Amino acid sequence: RMSVRQASAHPVSEFMGTSIIVIVLWAGGFIILGGKSTMDASLFIYYLVMLYNIINPLKDLSKAYYNIPIGLGCWERVDKILSATNPITELPQPHRLDTFDHQIEFRHVDFSYTEGRPVLKDINITLPKGHTVALVGQSGSGKSTLVDLLPRFHDVCGGEILVDGTDIRHCSLSDLRHLIGNVNQEAILFNDTFFNNIAFGVEGATRQQVEEAARIANAHDFIMETPDGYDTIVGDRGCLLSGGQRQRISIARAILKNPPILILDEATSALDTESERLVQEALERLMQSRTTIAIAHRLSTIRNADEICVMLEGSIIERGTHADLLAQGGYYKKLNDMQAL
Ligand code: ADP
Ligand code: MG
Repeated sequence: RMSVRQASAHPVSEFMGTSIIVIVLWAGGFIILGGKSTMDASLFIYYLVMLYNIINPLKDLSKAYYNIPIGLGCWERVDKILSATNPITELPQPHRLDTFDHQIEFRHVDFSYTEGRPVLKDINITLPKGHTVALVGQSGSGKSTLVDLLPRFHDVCGGEILVDGTDIRHCSLSDLRHLIGNVNQEAILFNDTFFNNIAFGVEGATRQQVEEAARIANAHDFIMETPDGYDTIVGDRGCLLSGGQRQRISIARAILKNPPILILDEATSALDTESERLVQEALERLMQSRTTIAIAHRLSTIRNADEICVMLEGSIIERGTHADLLAQGGYYKKLNDMQAL
């Protein structure tokens, strides 16, 4: 309603302004030319100039009157976001996590997004430092949800997650997230330059370090092909890039951050076979000496994992090494046989 009024304000005020001038000119001319008044022509012109000057600010006033409610409407929406309460809270005196030394443990973890619809049921995983655990399973079985619990994007509904024996809910959030590098199914990119997107989370990264990381992630070449190189803007959520390019940017970010714990959620799913091979090499280099949770559709990429957990509808139904699981002849073997085709 405000917009309709605003749109009509301009022609209406224009029309009224002109009408006033017409009336004043007509009446003034009539009075002066009639010679009956004490007002002479120069005074009348002076008066007209004043009138012109007053009409314009009056019109602006009407514009302001319409802009204020529109601004208020926007403010309400922005305020809703700014004043939203974050359910993930920190203790007043959180436990500091400067290094990661021993292991990550998921202990009887339950989780649901909405009451009554459990997404994860009684998950138990122990991941010693330097090991790799892989999660496989149908889409929708809760793999992404499981790895999102570790950096506390959500809090567990039951059980606990321990890093070096401390419940992550008692740890400093920024310390915890500093330990973790994340390459997600959906790359989280900002409407900013390649440089800033890769350097995100690493203070004082130099151009050389960023380029080095991009080279390892096989992203340097396509970045250099863009008009402004590393200063090119990637668009909202990286919408100006292809899925594979987005993923390589977030891999470069993880490489630059160099964290002890790595979460790879289908990190190579959006790549073609050729770039997948290149990125896979980069990832394998990255995974060495690191503690990794990897989710993969293609089993070839995780066959060397120390433990593979097969998930179905929120539970781990099979676990073991690649060879163990093949020997068991269960769901994993079925998946493996299908992919062998
Ligand atoms: P996967 O990664 O194994 O494909 P997800 O962890 O993404 O599975 O999803 C597991 C289940 O949780 C799905 O049934 C999905 O519909 C649901 N889910 C995922 N994210 C959300 C969310 N933000 N809110 C509500 N439900 C969700
Ligand atoms: Mg997923």
